[in-house]
Amino acid sequence: MSDEKTLFERIIDREVPADIVYETDTTLVFRDINPQAATHVLVVPKTRYRDVAELAAADPGLLAEVVGSAATVAEREGLGDGYRVVFNTGADAGQTVFHVHAHVLGGEQLGHFGRYHR
Ligand code: AMP
Repeated sequence: MSDEKTLFERIIDREVPADIVYETDTTLVFRDINPQAATHVLVVPKTRYRDVAELAAADPGLLAEVVGSAATVAEREGLGDGYRVVFNTGADAGQTVFHVHAHVLGGEQLGHFGRYHR
């Protein structure tokens, strides 16, 4: 893995500004800069793994903490009617930042998802 910091490590280290909404010892949650729903936040583990599969294999407890932070923020943001947690994994899924992150989307009725519509 490259030694160069990912964008999300730079946000964790406060080198790049972000709208941080929640933090634990192991995770950071901030608003997505290009929201795809009324509420759209990203949950990032402070330890870097490429994607959710690598995180699950290396540290399942940390994966549970990522999902737990997603649930905490969903509650704090008033997403009691439902929300979606998405881990884009790999290029075909549209992953652009290779530091695993959960998208938490909600705050309105969400559409279906799946195949890219040209
Ligand atoms: P993905 O495509 O799953 O890798 O998700 C990366 C997400 O990071 C996208 O939804 C971007 O909008 C979001 N993003 C990129 N730069 C920033 C930033 N500086 N602050 C917050 N979110 C960002």
